[in-house]
Amino acid sequence: MAAQVLIYDTTLRDGLQGEGMSLSTDERLQVVHALDELGVHLVEAGFPGSNPREAELFELLAREALRHSEVAAFGMTRRRGISAAEDPGLRTLVDCFAPVCTLVGKTWSLHLDKVTRVDPEENLAMIAESVAFLRGEGKRVIYDAEHFFDGYRDDPAYALGCVRAAVEAGAENVTLCDTNGSSLPAQVAEATTAVVTATGRTATVGIHTHDDAGCGVANSLVAVESGARLVQGTVNGYGERCGNANLMSIVPALQLKMGFDCLEPDRLGRLTETAHLVDELCNVIPGPNQPYVGRNAFAHKGGMHVAGIVRDARTFEHVDPAAVGNHRDLLISELSGRGTVQARASQNGVELSDDQAAEAVERVKELEHRGFQFEAADGSFDLLIRKQTGAYEPLFRLESFRVIVEKREDGRVQTEATIKIWVEGERYVRTAEGNGPVNALDRALRDAICATYPHVRDIELVNFKVRILDERKGTGAVTRVLLDASDGMDTWGSIGVSENVIEASWEALVDSLEAGMLPGRSDHVRHRAGDRAAQG
Ligand SMILES: [Zn+2]
Repeated sequence: MAAQVLIYDTTLRDGLQGEGMSLSTDERLQVVHALDELGVHLVEAGFPGSNPREAELFELLAREALRHSEVAAFGMTRRRGISAAEDPGLRTLVDCFAPVCTLVGKTWSLHLDKVTRVDPEENLAMIAESVAFLRGEGKRVIYDAEHFFDGYRDDPAYALGCVRAAVEAGAENVTLCDTNGSSLPAQVAEATTAVVTATGRTATVGIHTHDDAGCGVANSLVAVESGARLVQGTVNGYGERCGNANLMSIVPALQLKMGFDCLEPDRLGRLTETAHLVDELCNVIPGPNQPYVGRNAFAHKGGMHVAGIVRDARTFEHVDPAAVGNHRDLLISELSGRGTVQARASQNGVELSDDQAAEAVERVKELEHRGFQFEAADGSFDLLIRKQTGAYEPLFRLESFRVIVEKREDGRVQTEATIKIWVEGERYVRTAEGNGPVNALDRALRDAICATYPHVRDIELVNFKVRILDERKGTGAVTRVLLDASDGMDTWGSIGVSENVIEASWEALVDSLEAGMLPGRSDHVRHRAGDRAAQG
């Protein structure tokens, strides 16, 4: 049987140290449930005594039934000069329901000397007594050895002594922290091996890395290779400075490439969904190039490449996208052939005959000559396919729209849009204000159609890019607008091209809503759910 590696999530503590990160108590609870569903073993919910919001989260969590995850509470070793039992922070941990307590303590003599001015012997006593006190109160203890790798390089005997003090006092795991993110893989491997040798029989070793040297994931993986059996990290690598180790990359590597047992096999298929959900909650736009879970992680372009994929996916894919809940994307460009267009269409539930596919390729070439570009506009391409087969049905018919931009003497700029459209035989006239013409049009349009199509409320515009194309295309200067939209499960792009920026934006806007409403897109989501079921 494969060895087990425990996954420990610290998104709610270390992750929220990242710039601009903040979550309400309810959103934190949603993150915990998402991690539980994913099957993460330990979820650190924060320090219960640090502020009322964290205390409230622990109170709520005490009443939640989690299926896979155990909750860990974070705290520090006792202060100097008092006993562990008198330390208010440790008392808070004892009173908290969480079965696991993670205690952080010093291991680097430079820190003791320059920052805390604690005597090295006293520091060892602080570690041992704090761990022993929590053990005596029935808690399981993980000891986080802060700045362990710097400490080990500086004074290996003392760093190992700190770890040993925690283990001898009853810690079940000692997690080695690369708090500065300064270490390189070979250094992590060497130090981890030393700790595993010193403590391996009585406690497991964990790893907690940061990405300051771009090695957060690599350092976690080499630590596991060197014997670590617990990995701390955050969803999507959130964290202060350059971020923490990204669990969304670590978990599939351990499970699919290194043969460790992390999540239950059917859980790994929730990875992409979890990554995007947590992005959504944290108000972060999902990184398109993120390994495994990014929108471009399995996006293929160009005839030969796509032909290879169609014959045998292993030719161009490092893992099966379905294994991590992602999906293959065939990017459509002028270079694409009939086969690519047919494959892309059938992914969305549309079967194109050879003739229809050839016509679609011609249409793509024609539009790309005018400045369209479908690689990033998969939503618009899906609509184009439907237009080709006659299966396209517009959501509404436009009678007219008008946008007014007014700049006042005091510097304020106001925008107002009025649209007149027909939806299922009925005429709607709507006016909306916005922070710009596209925003005002978007609001007016949604207002007009949301009664008929309530799902448009779930669709959010997440990115807006405008480019002026040069005149060498032969048609004069035109504006290309690319929009990205998301319904929380999926993201897609749409495009508009016109000599007029507002017209180009309108085209992209209408495409983004129509593409979001396509039956093929919701099938696409179901299809992924189906892949997971088949896998389980
Ligand atoms: Zn950290």
